[in-house]
Amino acid sequence: MARIFCIANQKGGVGKTTTTVNLAAGLAQLGQRVLVVDLDPQGNATMGSGVDKRELKQSVYDVLIGGATVRGARCRAEKAGYDVLGSNRELAGAEVELVGLEQRDRRLKAALAGASLDYDFILIDCPPSLSLLTLNGLTSANGVIVPMQCEYFALEGLSDLVNTIKQVHANLNRDLMLIGLLRVMFDPRITLQQQVSEQLKDHFGDKVFNTVIPRNVRLAEAPSYGVPGVVFDPASKGAQAFVEFAREMVERVGKGLGAAPPVTPTA
Ligand code: ADP
Ligand code: MG
Repeated sequence: MARIFCIANQKGGVGKTTTTVNLAAGLAQLGQRVLVVDLDPQGNATMGSGVDKRELKQSVYDVLIGGATVRGARCRAEKAGYDVLGSNRELAGAEVELVGLEQRDRRLKAALAGASLDYDFILIDCPPSLSLLTLNGLTSANGVIVPMQCEYFALEGLSDLVNTIKQVHANLNRDLMLIGLLRVMFDPRITLQQQVSEQLKDHFGDKVFNTVIPRNVRLAEAPSYGVPGVVFDPASKGAQAFVEFAREMVERVGKGLGAAPPVTPTA
């Protein structure tokens, strides 16, 4: 049975997609069987895995709306080393179409159950909103990974996400928990980032992952070559940090993800 994780943060440009594809590639290098689900109509995780979003025969849209199976709609990201359930602009319409459907917030969960035995990890790249698509992701998952930059407003944005996780936990998915906050695009030379990082550890304790992802240009360059940074330049600092993060995830899963409550007290 796969462990399912959402990579979520309602802010755009914080590193969700970069985290999803590089964690996936890191896990694959550790011998884990991985599926990436692209829940963002922008299709960046699809393209960043080396799968052309314009040439998908079936996508996550067909799974959510059209009754396609995950096994039928997924494709192989050969160089990246994992499978992708891709997305493209078609998914933008799903938000409205879902509203009229039965079990509108559980459709992804039902579909993923059909492929759960094929994987050790399923990683869901969420769109930058707390929308019905994100809700489908959260309802499907065992846990949420929140990438965040250590900036001044970082903590403020977190409380909405933490509240959403609490509500989904209470009403839709008793399994769901905040697995951890991942500090990304980190620059240790910037004092403010160090301060925010300390604040995060004070408020969230061991919910802050040990691994820190540095700002590293190789991670930003990789998508234009259609591979995650971990594959594009394995020797780079960014790639090495993501492989380390993959190890940390495997270790956490091995120890069990911990029991409820889903989140530690908030700021
Ligand atoms: P999101 O999915 O949250 O919108 P992305 O993962 O697409 O965020 O990242 C936003 C931008 O920042 C992208 O251009 C990406 O290449 C870049 N980026 C992400 N993480 C890093 C990093 N650790 N170092 C340098 N650039 C990064
Ligand atoms: Mg993204």
